[in-house]
Amino acid sequence: MITNDNPPVTREALVRGLLEILPADRIITDQEELFVYESDGFTIAKARPAAVVFPVTTGEVVEVVKLLGKHGAQIVPRGSGTGLTGGCVAFDLGVLVSTVRMNAILKIDIENRVAHVEAGVRNVFLSDAVAAVPGGGAFHFSPDPSSQRASTLGGNASTNAGGIHVLKDFVTSNHVLGMEMVLADGSVVHVGAKNGAYESEFDLPGLICGHEGTFGIITSLWIRLAPKATSFRTIVGLFSSTADACNAVSEVIARGFLPAAMEMLDGRMVEVIEDAFHFGFPRETQALILTEIDGIEAILDEQQNELVEIFKKYNVTSITTSGDPAARAKLWKARKSAFGAIGRISPSYCTQDACVPRSMLAQVLAKLDEIGKEYGLQINNVFHAGDGNVHPIFLYDDRDEQQVRNVLLAAEKMLEYCIDIGGTLTGEHGVGVEKINLMPYLFDRPTMEQFFRIKHAFDPEERINAGKLIPSEKLRIDLLKPARQVPQ
Ligand SMILES: Cc1cc2nc3c(=O)[nH]c(=O)nc-3n(C[C@H](O)[C@H](O)[C@H](O)COP(=O)(O)OP(=O)(O)OC[C@H]3O[C@@H](n4cnc5c(N)ncnc54)[C@H](O)[C@@H]3O)c2cc1C
Repeated sequence: MITNDNPPVTREALVRGLLEILPADRIITDQEELFVYESDGFTIAKARPAAVVFPVTTGEVVEVVKLLGKHGAQIVPRGSGTGLTGGCVAFDLGVLVSTVRMNAILKIDIENRVAHVEAGVRNVFLSDAVAAVPGGGAFHFSPDPSSQRASTLGGNASTNAGGIHVLKDFVTSNHVLGMEMVLADGSVVHVGAKNGAYESEFDLPGLICGHEGTFGIITSLWIRLAPKATSFRTIVGLFSSTADACNAVSEVIARGFLPAAMEMLDGRMVEVIEDAFHFGFPRETQALILTEIDGIEAILDEQQNELVEIFKKYNVTSITTSGDPAARAKLWKARKSAFGAIGRISPSYCTQDACVPRSMLAQVLAKLDEIGKEYGLQINNVFHAGDGNVHPIFLYDDRDEQQVRNVLLAAEKMLEYCIDIGGTLTGEHGVGVEKINLMPYLFDRPTMEQFFRIKHAFDPEERINAGKLIPSEKLRIDLLKPARQVPQ
């Protein structure tokens, strides 16, 4: 259900205006085609946009934004739509402004380890392009969300995306040096440094990373290129109890190790991966920890042995170690395909995301079991254990309204629990519409007021993505009363 204070949008007039700015093949208004753009990866939040537009220059974005402002239509930035919180869903007949066709790599400067890219460049395409230039093989864009083949760099910056290797290399905001962004009034701002230089005043790129499309439309970014690891070891530990596995992770980090990645799969996810990839993991496995360490070759074996000793202390049932690039690639492919592989066992799934103190991981998994039983839901877990970033996956059938309701209630209970034990509302996926009601649960009133002031500094009239991330009087979405919005 939606409530709003916006003046009604006349769709025909809006589309006529858009056609004066963009060619017809870069505007979607056909109802059947718009169906595809009703949701992102969080398919519970659905609304059909009035139109989807595909500008290819910053100038076109400016013109579109000005026109939408004139018509009082909500402007909703969109990359590839792989988000998991409904952040790029256009409620209230908003217009999706997609940056996917702004996909040029404008400059790769290996000497200064920086790239300038348009916002629609897909994550992995940048690293592939960097590897193809002379001297580029040693560098990459480090944040590696599992969606990296599809998600855009503009979307990654807007959600402050993480990924498997952020335990050591950190999230997207640490890799974005500068940005060009179009604001709701059509002005174009340039923040941060370019060309690999650093800036020490207000960290505006840091502030914009994670804005979830609520400040403006990012049109290009200056990206830091990080060195790639050359030596590594992969360690796979199997456990007969999730608590043992969680406690092993906690001890590894507490002892001062900093693995490049430390991922965990519970027993149900091990089965899913096993059925898809046939590694030979025993069916009775209750938890798997996939750890990667990298650095100077001469010290890796010693470090690996120390980690093996910690795993043994927590009753590891089987442990394999390897420095073989092919084995490593297969394991990471399996891990990155884990969400997709869920499609083999359930019609729908909802991936949750919260961050908790690592020492509490075992309690969180126990609580999730309890919540699953209470709401009659199967919950699978595959997550960034080293970061304390849990990703319970709620399996359900979206044709059954009660199951949808149970997923939302169970997710809320889980998130409240994570906050109660000192955690956060999101580790990497963002807030979107999905978790917006819990923002005041996590943040006190003065902090929330400060968030509103920041939003209004960029977008005083709430023309861009109102009702996402920060609650808005202008647009409120109630997911417990889901209803698809179709333009009349
Ligand atoms: C299978 C799968 C695995 C995933 N794994 C991970 C993971 O490991 N780590 C992780 O962090 N996320 C993960 N995600 C979530 C998602 O891929 C990320 O949030 C990603 O950054 C979204 O990028 P996108 O281009 O698809 O953005 P969209 O989904 O299109 O948009 C996401 C948000 O960013 C805003 N936005 C997009 N582009 C712009 C722009 N140019 N300017 C301003 N605002 C913009 C939108 O308004 C929206 O609020 C996964 C998703 C899937 C489906």
